[in-house]
Amino acid sequence: MPMTTTTTDEAVKAIIKDRNEEFFDYLRFASVSTQNRNILPTVEYVKQMIEKTGGETQVLDDCGGNPVVYGYFPAGKKGNADKTVLFYNHYDVQPEDPLDEWKSEPFEPTVRDGILYCRGVSDNKANFVVRLYAIQALMDSEAGLPCNVKFLVEGEEENGSPNLGKYIKKYADLFTSDGCIWEFGGKDEEENFVIQTGVKGMAYFDLIVESAVVDIHSSLGAVIDNAAWRLTHALASLRDKDNHVLVDGFYDNIEHPSDYAREVVAEGKVNSKEMTRIYGLKHPFITKDLDWSTEEALAFYPTMTISGLLSGYTEEGTKTVLPRKASAKLDCRLVPGQDPKNIERVLRRHLDKEGFQDVELILLKGLKAFRSDLESPFVQTVKTAAEKVYGGPSKVVLSPTNPGSGPMAYFGEYLNVPVASSGCGYAESKAHGPNESVRLKDFEEGVLHMVQFLKDFQYA
Ligand SMILES: [Zn+2]
Repeated sequence: MPMTTTTTDEAVKAIIKDRNEEFFDYLRFASVSTQNRNILPTVEYVKQMIEKTGGETQVLDDCGGNPVVYGYFPAGKKGNADKTVLFYNHYDVQPEDPLDEWKSEPFEPTVRDGILYCRGVSDNKANFVVRLYAIQALMDSEAGLPCNVKFLVEGEEENGSPNLGKYIKKYADLFTSDGCIWEFGGKDEEENFVIQTGVKGMAYFDLIVESAVVDIHSSLGAVIDNAAWRLTHALASLRDKDNHVLVDGFYDNIEHPSDYAREVVAEGKVNSKEMTRIYGLKHPFITKDLDWSTEEALAFYPTMTISGLLSGYTEEGTKTVLPRKASAKLDCRLVPGQDPKNIERVLRRHLDKEGFQDVELILLKGLKAFRSDLESPFVQTVKTAAEKVYGGPSKVVLSPTNPGSGPMAYFGEYLNVPVASSGCGYAESKAHGPNESVRLKDFEEGVLHMVQFLKDFQYA
């Protein structure tokens, strides 16, 4: 039924009101992928929501894991059918524990003081619904939908998207587009709207060394080495204290960021005093003696971090022993150009060359990094549309790289598209934690941003 309202604002408000129960029912699905709860009913519901909005759907389930929902809305008669936007979302959520810290039922959407609380609302169900509403507002308007829109809604994001790459590779033709709007996004502590256009990659390893079949009396330390020393020597050979990785080949093939990306990063100031306060840091930043800034380190440089260490006697008091076994978790955040498999290869080569052939190295998880072309019309249109909705250029921050990791590289590798985030989260959204929330005001602005973006993108 066509809306009789005259402005986009009114139309959006009416849709939000009209489809409220449907949105809340979506939130009520406890679609926890890690625990394999309610996946298929949620898939069916996502499919219905797209169809109810007027889109076509396909459920893809032939590459393993939880199904991927594809949605398609063709451009209206007055729109530009040569332009296609892809929306990436996920219908799965994190487990709801710890239960006693929730102020209302985790899977019962509850509004308090203009804030909507529910597990999965900010990560990632509201962002999916925001996009559907924007499409509906445009389809109902005089001008119609300005370009083609596709959806890729997966159900294993909270599990590390182990099968997403297979689906995107196999269905690359189906997901063809000119750019992808990423699942997350929103406002920072200073209420700036942040658009992220890249992620770091990941190579995560177990390092294990065994020096004997039993723990040994430490008096024999005069002649027998132990696993803890073997492992710490091996680890110490990998990196110096300023985060320079000493492994030959680690920095090979790194793609250098564009001048524009450097400018953008130089503008965004990391509040190091605030970070020091929040984390109670007891040492200065490791970037203090380097040639690059804190901002550049976060955006453009890889890391190598010991995430865990285990060996020997760790209880109270003393036990004099040569530990027979030691292990470490090693996590490397990668930048574009680095390949997790190659990182494994050069690490192995380094350990062998340094005499640590006995240190076992196991690659547990690998993801490539991704960085969009910030000057692409797609990214620039996301930004200028945001400036119109969120209060001008000073309130919108473009960020070339989230210092964390995600499956963005599949979109670059198989679909060859730029990616930009737009979401309705805020600094206190508490994704993954108890009392996860979005503010209703941000939800409405999120719809307006997507309406504005789709309108502008047909001409970009
Ligand atoms: Zn999440």
